[in-house]
Amino acid sequence: MKLDFSDTALAFQHASPADLRRARLLFGVLASPTLVSVGKSLSLWALKWRLPVKGLIRATVFRQFCGGETVAESRPAIQRLWNAKVGSILDYSVEGQTTDAAFDQTVEVALQTLALAAHEPGLSLGVFKMTGIAPHELLERLSSGRELAPHEAEQLQKVRARIRRMAHFAAKSGRSLMIDAEETWIQGAIDQLAREAMMEFNTDRVVVMTTIQCYRVGRQDQLRADLDHAAEHGYCYGVKLVRGAYMEKERERAASMGYPSPIQPDKAHTDAEYDACLRLMLEAVGTPEQPGRVGIVVGTHNEESTRQAAEWLVARGWNPHEAPVWFAQLYGMSDFISFVLAHHGFRVAKYLPFGPIANVMPYLLRRAEENTSVAGQTGRELMMLRKETARRGSATRK
Ligand SMILES: Cc1cc2nc3c(=O)[nH]c(=O)nc-3n(C[C@H](O)[C@H](O)[C@H](O)COP(=O)(O)OP(=O)(O)OC[C@H]3O[C@@H](n4cnc5c(N)ncnc54)[C@H](O)[C@@H]3O)c2cc1C
Repeated sequence: MKLDFSDTALAFQHASPADLRRARLLFGVLASPTLVSVGKSLSLWALKWRLPVKGLIRATVFRQFCGGETVAESRPAIQRLWNAKVGSILDYSVEGQTTDAAFDQTVEVALQTLALAAHEPGLSLGVFKMTGIAPHELLERLSSGRELAPHEAEQLQKVRARIRRMAHFAAKSGRSLMIDAEETWIQGAIDQLAREAMMEFNTDRVVVMTTIQCYRVGRQDQLRADLDHAAEHGYCYGVKLVRGAYMEKERERAASMGYPSPIQPDKAHTDAEYDACLRLMLEAVGTPEQPGRVGIVVGTHNEESTRQAAEWLVARGWNPHEAPVWFAQLYGMSDFISFVLAHHGFRVAKYLPFGPIANVMPYLLRRAEENTSVAGQTGRELMMLRKETARRGSATRK
């Protein structure tokens, strides 16, 4: 099988001329670090002072990278993607909450999104962020290995109950639930809670999935240890493999606090770590005759990593649609990968963030920063968008 990620007619089949124009303009702006930096400061300042900028944000970055402010608003995007057999992973992207009421609200919304899957095809995967359901300080404390104060132990029990509610619902409704990875100083706690949930719910199949960020040093060792632990304790292991989204923040913190950066020294090392982890997991997937007790989400926009995984599966005799491997990209990015994979029968889904505009700003800012700081990503998007515009132009002239 030859995957042609440059087939823009396939990749942009769902995009109207206005969609293409908007995306070109937006990625053009994102390509300028100065414009992104000024835009970031201005929008945060304007939102803080309640200036009327929501309309502008909604028509630009929000429209490109988010489904809507509510589940209902996101349904047209879900349906549009599913017309091309691309699934959606509804992601309630509200971060930095602090109260029990807000954490419980995140759980309610996650349950709603899982329930929607009963009526809406293409919603097999759910996701949540631990910081959406747990206090940051608690996760930091737990990660540090220090003893919890009584009120923190109580908070932890509430967090466990929230995870259980969501995992139980996912188990019952035949879905899988991914837990996102976040900053290293809270990730120890997230890993621990994810492992507990996998041990409890992954007895027969992968219900809960953890996330490994390959921009961190030592992830192959962690993955091997995770796989050994699952085998030893008899549960199925599910993991989303990503490169990692908090690189600048991680490096700045390490430098300012004087500890060695947990991040790989350069992009080449991150890529090598990603591909090594991916191979480890693909080996664990096995063959259709002898499948392993694992599931993977290949969470990347990297063409080479994607191609490697897809070709490996086919070479091992998997029917792409039956392999326990999902490919996932973020909504608004790398449609040229998602739609081509879906066309060839692979399981593909887009992270579709939604939530009130002011609350999804951290997510949008990460996307904006990523698209300027990541050499090549914006370039690739722009190249594909220009190619498709030119193709449509010449098709009309013919
Ligand atoms: C479905 C999905 C789910 C995701 N979930 C999470 C999550 O739970 N947690 C999370 O943190 N991120 C998550 N991400 C974001 C992800 O970590 C990346 O930021 C993003 O996908 C870009 O990486 P890439 O593999 O797509 O592309 P590429 O363009 O190949 O790689 C870019 C990435 O390489 C790394 N990198 C770039 N420059 C350097 C350098 N100089 N040194 C070392 N490393 C470098 C960074 O991680 C950067 O983001 C998710 C992404 C997707 C698609």
